[in-house]
This record gives sequence, C-alpha cells and structure tokens, in this order.
Amino acid sequence: AVRTRFAPSPTGYLHLGGARTALFSWAFARHHNGTFVLRVEDTDVQRSTPQAVQAILDGMKWLSLDADEGPFYQMQRIDRYKEVLATMLDAGTAYYCYSSPEEVEQMRELAKAQGRKPKYDGTWRPEPGKALPPVPEGRKPVVRFRNPTEGVVTWNDMLKGPISIDNAELDDLIIARPDGTPTYNFCVVVDDHDMQITHVIRGDDHVNNTPRQINILKALGAPVPEYGHLPMILGPDGQKLSKRHGAVSVMEYDTQGYLPEAMINYLARLGWSHGDQELFSREQFVQWFDTRNLSKSAAQWDPKKLNWVNAHYIRELTDDALVAHVAPRIAARGGNTEDLDLVAILNLFRDRAETLEQLADNAMLFCAPYQPADAQLAATVLTDEARATLKKFATAAAALDAWDVPTLAALVKQFLADNGLKMPQLGIPLRVAVTGQKQTPAIDAVLAILGRDLVLQRLNQV
Ligand code: GLU
Repeated sequence: AVRTRFAPSPTGYLHLGGARTALFSWAFARHHNGTFVLRVEDTDVQRSTPQAVQAILDGMKWLSLDADEGPFYQMQRIDRYKEVLATMLDAGTAYYCYSSPEEVEQMRELAKAQGRKPKYDGTWRPEPGKALPPVPEGRKPVVRFRNPTEGVVTWNDMLKGPISIDNAELDDLIIARPDGTPTYNFCVVVDDHDMQITHVIRGDDHVNNTPRQINILKALGAPVPEYGHLPMILGPDGQKLSKRHGAVSVMEYDTQGYLPEAMINYLARLGWSHGDQELFSREQFVQWFDTRNLSKSAAQWDPKKLNWVNAHYIRELTDDALVAHVAPRIAARGGNTEDLDLVAILNLFRDRAETLEQLADNAMLFCAPYQPADAQLAATVLTDEARATLKKFATAAAALDAWDVPTLAALVKQFLADNGLKMPQLGIPLRVAVTGQKQTPAIDAVLAILGRDLVLQRLNQV
C-alpha cells in the first residue's frame, strides 16, 4: 500500500513551496487509497520553534490536508535513532571517527590542493587487516556511515527520471555528533524506514541527500522508496520567490481573503497539469493526480491567476458560506450587519470580487455608519435642481406598494420618462443622497437593500 509523508522542518511558516509539497504528497496518497503521514523534523533545536510547529499545523488544517498518521516529532524519537545507530556500529556499517574538526578540515584542504573532491580520508574507517590509530584521549567520536566505495547509487526519480551517482563521490556521512545526537539525514532514513514510506515527494533542494539516504537504507536492509523531487516555485519575475511574492505563510492568504479551495486548485496547477484544465475540485484533483503529469521545470507564481481562481471559487460559494466567510471581515472593519440582508449585499458585489477582503470593503457601503456626502461632493451633485428631483422621487417612492428590485426598477424607469430625465440626472444625486457616495452598484438594488424607511429618511434630509 502507498504511504507518503510530509516532513516539514518547523523553522518558519508553512510557505507556498511547503504547502505544495504537502499537497502533492497528500494527493498521491489519496489517489492510491494510501496513507499520508505528517512528520515534524524538529531536531534542529536552534531553529525549531513551537510557534512554527503550530503555524504548519494551522496551514495544513486551513488547506484540509489531513494526515492519517502523525504528527510525529523527531525529537520524541531520539532513543529509536540511537538504537539503530547501535545496530549499525555492531554490524560494521557505521564506525566511530575520532578525527577532530580541524583534522577533517585539513583533509579537505589537502584533497582540494591535489585536485580531488574534498572528502574525509577514511582514517578511522575500519578495513580488513587495517590497524586503526590509537584513540585520542578525552576526545568524543562522531559516528560515520561506512559508505560503499565502489559502484553507483541509482534511482528512477518520479520527476527527473533515472539518476546515478558514483559512490566514490560520496563521503562517509556523519550520522551522529560527538554528543551522540543523530544527524538530519540519518533521522530521515530511520523514519522513512520505520514509517514504511513508499513514495518520498519533496523539494529538489533535497536531491543531493537522496543517494546518501539510499545507501543508508540499503545498509539497514530496508526497502528503498520511490523518490520524486519537485522543482522549485519562482516568483513572477522569474527569480527566487520573495516575501513580496508568495514567500509568506499560507495563512497570510487566508488573511488576504483567499479561499482554501482556491489555494488548493491554484497550488495544484503549480507544477502539475491535467490537459489544460485550470479549474477542478479537490476530488477531481485527487482522482487525476499522477506523478507523470508533474512538470520537470520550475513553476512560476502568478498572483493574477490566483486572483482569477479565487474569484471563481467566490462565485461558487453558497450564500450561507459567503456570509460565513465575509461577515467576520465586516465585523473586523467595525461594520454592522444586523438588520441587513447580507446575502443581497454580498451578491451585489460577488461577481466582480477577487478576494473576500474586497467583498468586505464593498459591503461597508451598507454596513458602515451612514456618512452624508462630504461638502464638495454635495455641492457639485446635490444642486437645487437635483434636490427638487429627489423630493419628487421620494414622493413617488413613498407611494409604492412593494419595495423590491423589480418594483424599484420600474419606478426609476417611469420616473425618468415622466420627467424627461436621463439616468445620470436621477441616478447620481440618488446615490449620493442615500449612500453618501457616487460609486455604488445598481441603484434599484441599493434602494432595495437600504429599505423604504432609510431611503425616504435620507432623501427627505437633502
Ligand atoms: N525537513 C525537510 C524540509 O523541510 C524535508 C525533508 C524530506 O522531505 O525528506 O525541507
């Protein structure tokens, strides 16, 4: 059965690259009815923080990337890593190395001077018939992996195709520090093995770790998973993703008014395709997800397209969901939603909105306390002639039997005809009088939403 994992290091937020990696690992597991494991790689105690762990969990939750197992925390598994270290030392696939950091540095310098690849020179590597130097007194050893010296490590990368690395290129990796704590690559290997991971999907910044990890897995007699290394996400300028363009927490997109469904759809298309289809549900994505359709080249972040996708998902929301998403944003602006038909208000703006924040801004036309037009606007628009027109219109409106969009639309039309007016001659003063603003949605809709009492009250005040 397929088992994938997402293994973030909690040193910052869940940013876009991480979210996309998580999404693809999750989708691969879901597509194959497999298991998706969440593993927090928190052994870098200097840089890992509980806030970052929380931020990652929040981001996954917002995107509904639900893990079947975990979160596991590497810091809680140190005993297990030590146990595996001990078995490797016993088996001779790892060894104690007493070379000091200075000595190792010298070896590297020497190799470089001789035009060789800088590497540990194997001083402490046990070989049949080789006598090891005397152990320096008081020095704590590191543990090194006994990397094969011959042959090649090969894997068929799910994205990059076949990759082969000569073992001669690889160092005897340090797998435990002098204080006995295991190092990064070693923890990953033990975890991938213990968690029976079958497919590792991760960023291609890890591609250099893969041959090392494969060698250690083989030394443990463990099966080697499939690997797929995702190319990076570039900014719209073709450069590394910057803070200005997406190198921020995914939760920032929540704040800015993006829907998680839109984010998932957009992230899915960053490096994956299903023909040229741009919009698909989460279920379709899972159904169609296939590593063969992953792109081999870097994806480019495109804020305009994200807006377009988000606008689509905003249009798709049910009225209830729309209100649930936007009401808190209106409240955060100090807006009032009581006694207002928020569904009608939001639907006035919905078709043109790219974000929920825009919708909340728009809705403030009705939800903010009424502010009469400022003096300048009033002076230019609410002329004596316009005031007279508004008084007449108020009288006609007061006589209406019903107060809804069709009735009001008919009234406006009739009023224009009866008085020989053009739409702007009524529409602009009417807007300014009842909302205090010149730019509003269709006037019949605005009047309907405000209700008869407010409209007549404001018209009679001009
Ligand atoms: N912890 C690594 C990272 O956040 C990922 C390691 C892996 O996927 O193997 O970059």
